[in-house]
Amino acid sequence: NSAFEYCDQLVKDFERVIEHPIVSKSSVYYTGIDLGTAYIVLAVLDENYQPVAGAYRFANVVKDGMVVDYIGAIRIVKELKQELEERLDTELVYAAAALPPGTMALDSGVIKHVVQGAGFEITNLLDEPTAANAVLKIKDGAIVDIGGGTTGITILKDGEVIYVADEPTGGTHFSLVIAGAYKMSFDEAENYKQNPKNHRELTPVVGPVVEKVSSILNRHLRDYQVETIYLVGGTCCLEGIETIIARQTGIPTYKPQNPMFVTPLGIALNC
Ligand code: ATP
Repeated sequence: NSAFEYCDQLVKDFERVIEHPIVSKSSVYYTGIDLGTAYIVLAVLDENYQPVAGAYRFANVVKDGMVVDYIGAIRIVKELKQELEERLDTELVYAAAALPPGTMALDSGVIKHVVQGAGFEITNLLDEPTAANAVLKIKDGAIVDIGGGTTGITILKDGEVIYVADEPTGGTHFSLVIAGAYKMSFDEAENYKQNPKNHRELTPVVGPVVEKVSSILNRHLRDYQVETIYLVGGTCCLEGIETIIARQTGIPTYKPQNPMFVTPLGIALNC
């Protein structure tokens, strides 16, 4: 899908700099901070908005889009900041962060304090779908962000957001189902799920969870004429998830090559 050309290139560049940061002479650096249920991701762009470094860590500091471990969140963001500063040999000053749709009123103060507590100057606090769409650049359709704890649904028409929702079903539920089916611990199931080699075998195991996500989508999308669904979020790395969702919703469904880093990069682009 050509809609993903810019997105796929940006994510590919980002994946490369996670391994090999680019130590450039940028006059300014923009950091995007994605505080997720499963991962905290930091994406650093240079003055030309090109990825130069990135880091992420599995963390249990956010639940259903809300920060539940404030001190833990600050500590991890601070550690990732330091790690990136050492690798880039520079100080990272500016950062932006994002919240799931609908939680701005409840949680924006907490997120701001986490970013500042870690030593950043916060330049922007935006909602996750707006961040994702800075990378996807979609005018019409639904952006569906299946993360760790939640699924965010955003409908766009003529470039405007006309509907948002956040539902508490996400990758964690996939892992719980795998843990049950294979008699594994949650962490073992997480690892098993994240290995693309296991995805074919897992399709029938996680099928009912994908169907549940699809029925949630049907409920939210039925009153709108949505012609295309665009998938982002780590859970959409699962091979073939787009095919099941397309079948269950009757709506053509696409995803970028790596749906996992779309939101953090979009946050950094809005820094
Ligand atoms: P939320 O958006 O709910 O706050 P988050 O921002 O942490 O959570 P993401 O980072 O988008 O969410 O995605 C994390 C989820 O993606 C986890 O459940 C993780 O297990 C899953 N995930 C990551 N990589 C893969 C993969 N290769 N295959 C399957 N699932 C994956």
